[in-house]
Amino acid sequence: MKLITKSGILSSLAERIKNEYQMEGGTWYQSNWSKPLYEDISNLPADAPESDFIEIIGDDTWTRIKCDECQRSVDKVIDIGGSAAMLCPFCLNEAMGMLTERTTP
Ligand SMILES: [Zn+2]
Repeated sequence: MKLITKSGILSSLAERIKNEYQMEGGTWYQSNWSKPLYEDISNLPADAPESDFIEIIGDDTWTRIKCDECQRSVDKVIDIGGSAAMLCPFCLNEAMGMLTERTTP
């Protein structure tokens, strides 16, 4: 299990863009926009809000955290089974309720 948080998503975003678009040897795939995107994201201050990232990217595809059970956009999830499922605190609480109900004598 792994905790995924909005702040973690934002602070790792430049690195994730680089990993996605920079190829071996240092050249960039679709470099006309991927490299400037990486540089703009890298230049944001450490405490920049999500809206600053969305403004640069144009949408929330790189910053959104979605629960696989309820489909809501949330600020944190638990990644279960090596990305098999990402569940929000509400759904995990529901799951715990189900487990507790079943194990009560
Ligand atoms: Zn949920």
